[in-house]
Amino acid sequence: MNGKFIPAEQGVISVRTHGFSYGTGCFEGIRGYWNEKDQQIYLFRLREHYERLLRSCKILQTSLPYTVEQLIDLSIELVRRNGQRQDVYLRPVAYKADPIIGVRLHNLEDHLIITSEPVGNYIDITGLHCGVSSWRRIDDNAIPARAKITGAYVNSAFAKSEAMQNGFDEAIMLTHDGHVSEGSAENIFLLMNGEFVTPAPTENILLGITRDTVIELGRREFGRITRERQIDRTELYVADEIFLCGTGAQIAPVIKVDHRPIGDGKVGPVSSALQQLRLGIAENTKRARAPARACSRSILGGMMETPYACPCG
Ligand code: PMP
Repeated sequence: MNGKFIPAEQGVISVRTHGFSYGTGCFEGIRGYWNEKDQQIYLFRLREHYERLLRSCKILQTSLPYTVEQLIDLSIELVRRNGQRQDVYLRPVAYKADPIIGVRLHNLEDHLIITSEPVGNYIDITGLHCGVSSWRRIDDNAIPARAKITGAYVNSAFAKSEAMQNGFDEAIMLTHDGHVSEGSAENIFLLMNGEFVTPAPTENILLGITRDTVIELGRREFGRITRERQIDRTELYVADEIFLCGTGAQIAPVIKVDHRPIGDGKVGPVSSALQQLRLGIAENTKRARAPARACSRSILGGMMETPYACPCG
């Protein structure tokens, strides 16, 4: 918390905290993979997550007294001190801390908390039934989705609860002009005529780190380019395959949308291969022969990730 390492139960904030009252914070969600053999945790694309956090901060007029390097070092030290021997989820939150009444962004004190906790699979990755949400995705000129703003997640919560309470596994949200945007906390990809298609950055999406990884893996491993463009709702119904992706969801194939089977209603071959590849990356990360030097940054040859090794225990 603000550069100090303290037990979670001592990480207390005031009930009047601005970020709590008004949702004026931004955050990240970062996955770390436990490697039994190396007895280490490898944090997935830590640098990219912190670069995105600082971009979110910029949008939210939040200034942290840390560089990306320092944030990386703090995270590694946190994971090391926690000594967890399993997959972990790191949640850095930069928030407006003043205990004041008054909605604004400027002239407020900014604080940072980073927590680390054990994590499993966030959503079912064996085939989802998604419903197009009646809740529209927040617009860039309302609450910018490209910044991972805490308050903006009320939009995701509306969509997720509606989907689940209507018997779906996950929501697919549309933009205000009715084009496909993303899941409640995942980006979306369609496979159409052999190409990956995903909503463009201007479709009110969070620019996912996993999205970026999928685009790169698609190009490298499958020789498929990704088209980033506007997508109509009914393109969902006729896509050959669909999957959601994100730090939590990883690669989550979609087998039905609005009661219509996608392809033949089973997990498609490309989604499945990508899922294996993605899990393989995690596994490879786990099997990394030379454990990265203690807390050093090692880039596994040829891989789209920068696993940061933290010796634990
Ligand atoms: N969209 C939203 C709204 C999200 O919350 C997330 C999860 N961070 C994603 C997409 C996927 O982003 P990433 O791959 O960076 O986790």
